[in-house]
Amino acid sequence: MATKRDYYEVLGVPKTASVDDIKKAYRKLAKECHPDLHPNDKDAEARFKELNEANEVLSDPEKRARYDQFGMDGPQNPFGGAGGAGGFDFSGFGGVGDIFDQLFGGGGMNSQARRNAPRAGEDLQYELKISFEEAANGCEKSFEFYRDETCEVCGGTGAKPGTQPKTCPTCKGAGQVRMQGGFMVVTRPCTTCGGTGKIVTDKCQTCGGTGIKRVRRTAKVKIPAGIDNGQSVVLHGQGGPGVNGGPAGDLYIFVSVKPHKLFKRNGTTLLLDMPISFTQAALGADIDVPTLNGTVKYHIPEGTQSETEFRIKGQGLPRVGSTLKGDLLVHVKVEVPKRLNEKQKEILRQFESQTTGREYEGSKTFLDKVKSLFG
Ligand SMILES: [Zn+2]
Ligand SMILES: [Zn+2]
Repeated sequence: MATKRDYYEVLGVPKTASVDDIKKAYRKLAKECHPDLHPNDKDAEARFKELNEANEVLSDPEKRARYDQFGMDGPQNPFGGAGGAGGFDFSGFGGVGDIFDQLFGGGGMNSQARRNAPRAGEDLQYELKISFEEAANGCEKSFEFYRDETCEVCGGTGAKPGTQPKTCPTCKGAGQVRMQGGFMVVTRPCTTCGGTGKIVTDKCQTCGGTGIKRVRRTAKVKIPAGIDNGQSVVLHGQGGPGVNGGPAGDLYIFVSVKPHKLFKRNGTTLLLDMPISFTQAALGADIDVPTLNGTVKYHIPEGTQSETEFRIKGQGLPRVGSTLKGDLLVHVKVEVPKRLNEKQKEILRQFESQTTGREYEGSKTFLDKVKSLFG
C-alpha cells in the first residue's frame, strides 16, 4: 500500500483547525489543482484526489475523531472490506467500545458524545441550465430551490411555542445510559429520547416536532465567464442549517451548458465547422466568420484544401477568472457544387480542358507513384 500523506498536511492546516478552517483550506486548494485547470496532468489529478479524501475525513466530525485517534490505518472497518453485508456499514464504528455499543442497540458512545457538538449543515447541490453564450460571457441568474431550515416557530426545539422540551427521565438528559456488563461498562444511546436527552411532549405543529422546515428559497448567483459544463459555483452558507449552533452548509451550483447551434468548445478554444465553396477554395476569398460576438473577416488563401483549419486569435472563450481568451478554430470543408445547369457544366468542362496537371498537386503525386509501380 502506498504511503499516504497526513490529511492535515495535505490540507495545510493544524490539528486544531476548525471545521471552517478546513473547509476554507479545502476550497482554496481544490480550486488550484482542479483537473479542469490541469487537463492531462496526472500529478494534479492525484493531488485533487488526495485533497478530496482528506477533506472528506476531516470535515466529518466522526471520521475526523476516528482519524485523530487511530490515524490512517485506524479501524475504518474493523472487519475488513468496505462496507458490510447487506449494506451495513461498519465504518460507523469508532472503536472496540463502539462495537459493543452497536451490538447493544445502535449509536456509539463517542458518536453520542459528538451528537451534541456543533456541526456544519448539509451541503446542497443545484443544477443550473445556462446557454452556451451565458457560459462564455458570464451571467447572473436567479433560481429557486428547496432547503431545510430551522423551524422559526419553535426555534428548532420541536416543542410547541410556550412549552419546553422536558429532560429525559431515563437518561437524565445525558442522551446515553451506562450498563454494567461483567468486567465491562458499556454505554448505549438512550432509547427513550433517541439520544437527544430531551423529550418533546407538545409537538410544534408547524414542523411536527422535527424542528426543521422545508422551505422554498430564491438565490442569485454570478456565473463567471468561461465556465464549462459540469463546473460549479459555491454559495457559502446557503446549504442546510447547522446543528447545535454549527455553521450552515454550502450550496453548490453545477452548471449544465446547453449545446450551441454552430459552436462547440474544447476548454477555451471555440470550434467551428464552416463550409466554403470550391471556387472560394480555389481562388481564395474574404469570408465572414461568425464568432460569439458578431462576425469577423478572414482571408482564406487561394488553393485552400478541404479540412484545413484556421486559427483566429482571441475569439475563443476566457478561462474562469481571467480576461484572456482562447482562439477560434475554423475547420473549413470545401463543398462541391451539385445541380449545375448546362451552362455551368460547359464552363467547368472548358476549365478542365485547360488544366495541365500542375493544378492538382495531390493527383500529380498520386499518378507519379502509380507510374513508378507499373512503369
Ligand atoms: Zn417547529
Ligand atoms: Zn434519554
